[in-house]
Amino acid sequence: MLKFRNTLSGQVEEFRPMREGEVSLYYCGPTVWDFGHIGNFRSMLATDLLSRYLRYQGYSVTHVMNITDVEDRIIALSQKAGVTIDEYTAKYIDALWQDADDLGVNRPDIVPRATRHITEMVELIEQLRERGHAYESEGSVYYRITSFPEYGKLSKINFAGNIAGASERVDTDKYEKEDARDFALWKAAESPDEPAWDTRLGRGRPGWHIECSAMSMKYLGQSFDIHAGGIDLIFPHHENEIAQSEGATGVVPFARYWIHYEHLKVNGESMSKSKGNYYTFRDLVEQGFAPVAVRYFLLSVPYSKQLNFTFEALRGAEKAVLGLRDFHARLTEVRTEPGSDPQLHEAAARALKEFEGGLDDDLNTSVAFAAIHNLAREVNTAIACHTLREENKRELLELLARFDSVLNIFGSQQEAVMLDAEVQTLIDERQEARRRRDFARADEIRQELAAQGITLEDTKDGVRWKRR
Ligand code: AMP
Ligand code: ZN
Repeated sequence: MLKFRNTLSGQVEEFRPMREGEVSLYYCGPTVWDFGHIGNFRSMLATDLLSRYLRYQGYSVTHVMNITDVEDRIIALSQKAGVTIDEYTAKYIDALWQDADDLGVNRPDIVPRATRHITEMVELIEQLRERGHAYESEGSVYYRITSFPEYGKLSKINFAGNIAGASERVDTDKYEKEDARDFALWKAAESPDEPAWDTRLGRGRPGWHIECSAMSMKYLGQSFDIHAGGIDLIFPHHENEIAQSEGATGVVPFARYWIHYEHLKVNGESMSKSKGNYYTFRDLVEQGFAPVAVRYFLLSVPYSKQLNFTFEALRGAEKAVLGLRDFHARLTEVRTEPGSDPQLHEAAARALKEFEGGLDDDLNTSVAFAAIHNLAREVNTAIACHTLREENKRELLELLARFDSVLNIFGSQQEAVMLDAEVQTLIDERQEARRRRDFARADEIRQELAAQGITLEDTKDGVRWKRR
């Protein structure tokens, strides 16, 4: 039985969906003003893992991830570039999917964009006004926090005190408000050349928080199972989503389980664009790291723990993945005699138990990975000692395929990404061929690497290589 920490209750709880066998899941996705950094991808991968594990357990999952494609930075940058916001964000949305595909992320089932749901947001804001939760001021509309006594139930922040500084993302609207804590639902357009929509609320654009309330309820209903996001979103974003959704519909709870992922850090500080301490996924691929190594690294520490980024740790992840892929290849290729070795049969059963036990326990991926590494060690020895039998091989390959439906690190033979060590082996072979003056073979290797997106550069210090 899967258990994870529900921020709403503050407890690790058994997960029981509203409808038997079905799970509705909403993840607060990226703001497409730039390329995503690997911190953003840590959270996206944590959601990928969660939805994959729910499917592994037999649930049918509806996974929604929104895209925030209108907000202050997008507006400022598109104006600077002299293009529309749609033209501006197109490049980053394309990049997002390329990166997500390379990282082996399953595409969410529904990916709503904020700019395509303005009508739903306006309707929700109107509902809030009718119920006394919102008011207009100078063309903008604000949420009246005092109208929602439960405000603070997710973040457990005591609003009697000073809330400023409680989060990096405290609303800093400069408009007139009844109360400093009130936040904008609708922002009146300030100038004619600003991107804006003409609606019943006047000309303007939505606030950030209302997007997620409107889009999650449109696709998953007024009450759904799991709402996910990085830990930075608990306050104010998710607190505000609850106030908006429960305020507008009267249906409680809006989301039944809230899961929040700890951040990826660099020297103890959260990786973020504003601090400048970030790497995009592309930076790392450019430096020669295999996408699957980044995936492994970001998943290797459970979501509930902070993960510190270092190149050494990333290299360690690459080695670990290489080891597991090696094991998988060896197991696929080994010739076996009929029969079954009972000890190996038991090892497989034990690995399965540890894998599921780890993930059931608050999605502890490090236990799940350890189960596979332990199994690999035992089976590699058996292969070396020729004790592995046909039945074991079949059972173990099936087991690895099951594990991989959640972790997605082994890769199919065709799409297998070449790892650094494999690239190096081919480069060495090419050098050797050139020494023999076998230029046909040397060329063949260069082409083989090129087909994998790897380009070689012959320098006086030897061969340098780069991933495309
Ligand atoms: P954003 O593009 O800033 O809207 O963020 C997209 C997702 O990434 C959200 O769920 C954030 O909570 C999450 N996120 C932002 N920074 C980090 C980080 N350093 N580590 C993990 N997740 C993050
Ligand atoms: Zn959101």
